[in-house]
Amino acid sequence: MSFQGEIFILIGPPGSGKGSLSSLCVKKLGWSQLSTGNLCRKHIAEQTEIGKKIDLVIKSGKLIDDSLVTQMVVGWFKEQINRVPVVILDGYPRTVIQADAFDVLLKSTYPDHKISVVRFVISDDAVVKRLGSRYICENKDCQAVYSLASGSSLAPKKTGICDVCSGQLVRRDDDVEESIRKRLHIYHKHEQALIDFYHRVGQSIIEIDADKPIVDIFKYFAGTYGTKI
Ligand code: AMP
Repeated sequence: MSFQGEIFILIGPPGSGKGSLSSLCVKKLGWSQLSTGNLCRKHIAEQTEIGKKIDLVIKSGKLIDDSLVTQMVVGWFKEQINRVPVVILDGYPRTVIQADAFDVLLKSTYPDHKISVVRFVISDDAVVKRLGSRYICENKDCQAVYSLASGSSLAPKKTGICDVCSGQLVRRDDDVEESIRKRLHIYHKHEQALIDFYHRVGQSIIEIDADKPIVDIFKYFAGTYGTKI
């Protein structure tokens, strides 16, 4: 059966707001979010075989194996199919190998989908600053994202407590300076190749200024913001 919906692919460095935007789209538009990072952290928390393999890789800030992450994505799509018409992919694909594998999956299995690729543009300095005040809910079925930066719209209502499920807010293991720098380096290593890949297959890319407040970025997804390149 074909999947007649829309899939948003978000390309952007860590801390550019992909996860926060996805959560807003889930909450306010009823979309479905696939965060490969959240899936990985869930495997680690549940100490599955996959979780044991990837724990140290993630802490170090490196990417996990392309085929392993694609396997997770295929599994997720099989379970979610027909549940919601719009899916927002947060953190996948991250390499050309993944983009290619996902393209094959879409063409062979879900030929009627619409694909939109959105690139989040933000400086490394802004990312490092943001990640320094990022907290997430420790409940691995929630993993809502918050910011403790003063005046942020992502501040929790109660200090240290998740608004969604009342879980404790914690720092991510990989939100330490060394790992952040490594993740940024890896992101930049793959970014241009991913953009080239999508242009090669005739896919336009929408660029957004990810330095803007998340509510402004959300407006694009609600239909009012963005530029085609
Ligand atoms: P994120 O939550 O998207 O920042 O991802 C956290 C970590 O999970 C990354 O630094 C990688 O180690 C791993 N990860 C998440 N998505 C992918 C992916 N598409 N490919 C490889 N590794 C990934």
